[in-house]
Amino acid sequence: MEEAKARRSVLEHGQKMNALGINQGTSGNLSLRFGEGLLITPSGIPYEEMTPEDVVFMRMDGSYEGRHAPSTEWRFHRDIMATRPEVNAVVHAHPAYCTALSIVGRGIPAVHYMIAAALGDVRVAPYATFGTEELSKNALKALEGRFACLLAHHGMIALGLTLPRALWLANEVETIARQYTIALQIGEPKVLPEDEIRRVIERFQSYGVKDKPKESPGENSSENAV
Ligand code: 13P
Ligand code: ZN
Repeated sequence: MEEAKARRSVLEHGQKMNALGINQGTSGNLSLRFGEGLLITPSGIPYEEMTPEDVVFMRMDGSYEGRHAPSTEWRFHRDIMATRPEVNAVVHAHPAYCTALSIVGRGIPAVHYMIAAALGDVRVAPYATFGTEELSKNALKALEGRFACLLAHHGMIALGLTLPRALWLANEVETIARQYTIALQIGEPKVLPEDEIRRVIERFQSYGVKDKPKESPGENSSENAV
């Protein structure tokens, strides 16, 4: 993807994130793997006022180019890109239900089959101050083998092979968080067994892509369809 298009995509997905109702104001941030580094939203600039040129290019050593400082959460964006080669996009938001669950220290168990889109139950990373290396370490651990996690007293992170997929997953996880919260109010939520989630992950490989040959490049990802 050419740089101008990639910058536009980061900006547009930031605006979509707020339009979806899963984030507000200048909270949250997004990044997209680009060249030898990543394009990341600048810190503290409202998405509706942001221009593509405001998006910051950061190298993997943390040095950056741009007229603004990168998001204060650049560490976990950079660290995820460095340790998860399959991931090309990171979305961080403060959605109401995910955050409410994180405040009471609850992750999201496999209460809905769509949790398979995150590759299993969504864990809560222990609290650490925003923008710190400690928060990045905690997030990386909670994300092990997963495409999403909650951040205690803070929000959530969703990963993707692409930016549209990462944003889609962020919205899906918030939907399950809402369903789980409602279920907690009316009864005792029952959790789907591990082997069922494995089965659903398998099914997601081919969901919606039956016209395409299964072995075509990029088609064997677990977050491919749904
Ligand atoms: P930034 O504006 O620096 O990206 O910070 C928002 C945020 O969500 C911090 O966790
Ligand atoms: Zn945040």
